[in-house]
Amino acid sequence: MTRSATETDLGRTRRARRIGRVLAETHPDAHCELHHSSPLELAVATILSAQCTDKKVNEVTPKLFARYPTAVDYAGADRAEMEDLIRPTGFYRNKTSSLIRLGQALVERYDGRVPGRLVDLVTLPGIGRKTANVILGNAFDVPGITVDTHFQRLVQRWRLTTETDPVKIEHAIGAMFPKRDWTMLSHRIIFHGRRVCHARKPACGACTLVKLCPSYGTGPTDPALAAKLLKGPRARDLAAAAGVDPDLVPVQAVRAEAP
Ligand code: SF4
Repeated sequence: MTRSATETDLGRTRRARRIGRVLAETHPDAHCELHHSSPLELAVATILSAQCTDKKVNEVTPKLFARYPTAVDYAGADRAEMEDLIRPTGFYRNKTSSLIRLGQALVERYDGRVPGRLVDLVTLPGIGRKTANVILGNAFDVPGITVDTHFQRLVQRWRLTTETDPVKIEHAIGAMFPKRDWTMLSHRIIFHGRRVCHARKPACGACTLVKLCPSYGTGPTDPALAAKLLKGPRARDLAAAAGVDPDLVPVQAVRAEAP
């Protein structure tokens, strides 16, 4: 019988919290990877991050933020000029429309400021519940769970929930953790998904969650093979944290960009 078939709700919550503690040790550097210095900048960066890596967004935003410092600037932007600036992030026509409409809505309804409540944020153009939670957690210090593709994949691999709808996942996982931990938990899960537990080939043999994960074996369990799948500048630290010889991590893995 599988763990999920025999595990009680209490047992699952305890395991979830252990996973949370191990992730906190594994990813002490976890943070919002979109560069920003205000709620408006984070809202803009999050809209640009759809179907695009955070790294690419961070390459584009310094010029964009300098050109459009306020909601009024977005509201009155020249479409062609903005499209040129954000083109590298893909879907630039739709994203330009969202940014201009976001600026207009902020000016018309919120005096040019990004509101700090979920109910208001989700009414804004280009901002769904996931984006709203990113903004709340990182620009307003209001705890929020961000159910992106990594979060969804990992909590399902850990069999913490059978839900598939992002809002239901958010509630199910939120109920297992103290509210104050929600934002950092989201960052750590997303960090783990980008650096270790990849969609196609998770690095099971070099993962710190081996004892807590019912999906161990989804990816290679041989440490030498798994070590090659780790990604990012801390790949060697990640291997060491999992009890794997850091020298098995090739230089390409350390240089690899976490998706
Ligand atoms: S053991 Fe494998 S499937 Fe489980 S969290 Fe680690 S990398 Fe992902």
